[in-house]
Amino acid sequence: SAPATAPVASPTIAVEPESRVEDFAEYRRLKATMEQMKMTGVPNPYFTVHDGIASDTTVVDGTKLISFATYNYLGLSGHPAVSAAAADAVKKYGTSVSASRLVSGEKPIHRQLEQTIADFVGVDNSILMVGGHATNETTIGHLVGEDDLILHDSLSHNSIVQGALLSGARRRPFPHNDFKALDRTLQEVRSQYRRVLIIIEGVYSMDGDFSNLPEFIAVKKRHNAMLMVDEAHSFGTMGQTGHGMAEFWNCDARDVDIWMGTLSKSAASCGGYIAGSHALVEYLRYTAPGFVFSVGMPPAQVAAALEALKTLEKEPERVERLRHNSELFLKLCQDAGLDTGVSEKTPVVPVITGNSLVALRLSNRLKGDGINVQPILYPAVDESAARLRFFITSEHTDEQIRLTVERTAKHLADLGYAPQATAQ
Ligand code: PMP
Repeated sequence: SAPATAPVASPTIAVEPESRVEDFAEYRRLKATMEQMKMTGVPNPYFTVHDGIASDTTVVDGTKLISFATYNYLGLSGHPAVSAAAADAVKKYGTSVSASRLVSGEKPIHRQLEQTIADFVGVDNSILMVGGHATNETTIGHLVGEDDLILHDSLSHNSIVQGALLSGARRRPFPHNDFKALDRTLQEVRSQYRRVLIIIEGVYSMDGDFSNLPEFIAVKKRHNAMLMVDEAHSFGTMGQTGHGMAEFWNCDARDVDIWMGTLSKSAASCGGYIAGSHALVEYLRYTAPGFVFSVGMPPAQVAAALEALKTLEKEPERVERLRHNSELFLKLCQDAGLDTGVSEKTPVVPVITGNSLVALRLSNRLKGDGINVQPILYPAVDESAARLRFFITSEHTDEQIRLTVERTAKHLADLGYAPQATAQ
């Protein structure tokens, strides 16, 4: 065999050397897309600078807008007790733990939050990581490998796909929410793999629909597979008291092998968690690269999430208000003939325009009315699925919701959009 120092074989097809990002085809495509957007005459909807606390309202260029574009589902970011807990933690522990927890970065509040999350979810233990995206990437990347198979929902979040790619496992998406198709695939291929990891989300953040957890649990049990549920958008929002999908479906949380969630939404903080059995958490604590080789979660973030969860338990009416607001928003949209797709019983409600330019113009006109909502454009979704996506919070008032739906319907009509005759 060739010595280790042998030069790398040169490619048979000559390639143009590139050393500047400016020359990358990918970068040029990005610039072309931005140029196209500029030509529409509608201001760039990305990286708008916001002042103040993101809740039912936000401040842009000194103007207060009603906002439907952030994940502060329960209004706990900006809650005085949550902010005070974060400030106290900074006084006590500083702004960084300055080391991986494995070595010198462990603080008592890390353990407290991990136990609080485990109790909240209904499992043995949990482990915190510094980002939600990083949590999926490192955990999925670490738990399975070359001899294994990942079956994930076709609408999975980027962090799930990235984790799957990192793992080196075979990756097969299954049609959205289709547990029967998943079952058929497993029937066929289960025997070819050592571990099979099924990954679904609780609530899907583009469409505002949710997964049928009991059916997925039945499939995973039937085929001796592992089930992972990403609760980024269901933690704090689903179930009578916001405990998520297990509460919503009245399932035993221990039937899910790996619960994942982020603390950046209902929990008013930043970072992610994995919750499950003692063995799972112990294994990750000593071996997950994104945990072991990364700094511990900062004190302010830990304390904020702890206080947010405490407040949520004390004030379950926040979840009730969120449910009321979500139902009202959806019903008013449907009454107005707007296309809300498959959204149901969740705080994510899209209004599908089926045209990126219409979505862009609509969001711009709404901004003129004092309403902030993000357009989702091609290529983030198919052109026919371009939309505005409304994130509802417990803090919105009925008046804000009524005004928003009324203005949305009016502008859509002005833009020549025909309401769906079939919408109920
Ligand atoms: N999973 C899902 C389903 C998400 O929607 C997100 C972010 N929106 C993440 C993971 C990543 O979480 P974070 O933004 O906290 O990194």
